[in-house]
Amino acid sequence: MWEPGKPSQNENEYFARRDAEWLKQQRAALDRERAARASGHERLTCPRCGGSLYVRDVEHVKIDICDTCHGTWLDAGELEMVLHLPRAELLQAVHDLEARRR
Ligand SMILES: [Zn+2]
Repeated sequence: MWEPGKPSQNENEYFARRDAEWLKQQRAALDRERAARASGHERLTCPRCGGSLYVRDVEHVKIDICDTCHGTWLDAGELEMVLHLPRAELLQAVHDLEARRR
């Protein structure tokens, strides 16, 4: 039964589809930016400790992680991507990241 202020199942599906489409477009745009930045540039270093950053793909979001202090860095666009991830997938991804650190 529909209640005021509560999205119906159809609306939830609509938003999930819209998010998936948005994520796909955003991913393509960020990949283009990343490729442009990487050409002719040296390896990214950690702004905190100067260690080397490596990229981890978490549910299509690319996260830069420091191999020394394990600082986790996000581009502005990537942070916005994280906010659009389904919550369950996000929690699983963060859990996986934490597990790899140990
Ligand atoms: Zn670091």
